[in-house]
Order: sequence, then C-alpha cells, then structure tokens
Amino acid sequence: MTECKECGKVYEIGVKDCCSDDCFKKNIQKRIDEAVENDTSHTKKISREDS
Ligand SMILES: [Zn+2]
Repeated sequence: MTECKECGKVYEIGVKDCCSDDCFKKNIQKRIDEAVENDTSHTKKISREDS
C-alpha cells in the first residue's frame, strides 16, 4: 500500500504518487503554480530593470 503524496490517504491503486486522478491533478497544479510564481518574480525583476 502507498500513501498519497497529495492528501496522505493510503491507497492500493492510484495515479502516479497519488490515490486518485483528482489528487494527481492537484499535485501537478501545485507544481505549476510554484513554477509560475518563480516565473512571475523573475519577470518582475526584469521589468523593474527596464523602468
Ligand atoms: Zn489523495
């Protein structure tokens, strides 16, 4: 049995490291949000230099 990386639930058949497709999508979205956040701060830095 494996523990879901998203909600911590123990599951037998899941998606990747998550118990369900829903948790897997949430987990992926979190990673996207983090990437976008990094991207935004990077963009801010650039525009600050421009102005
Ligand atoms: Zn889950």
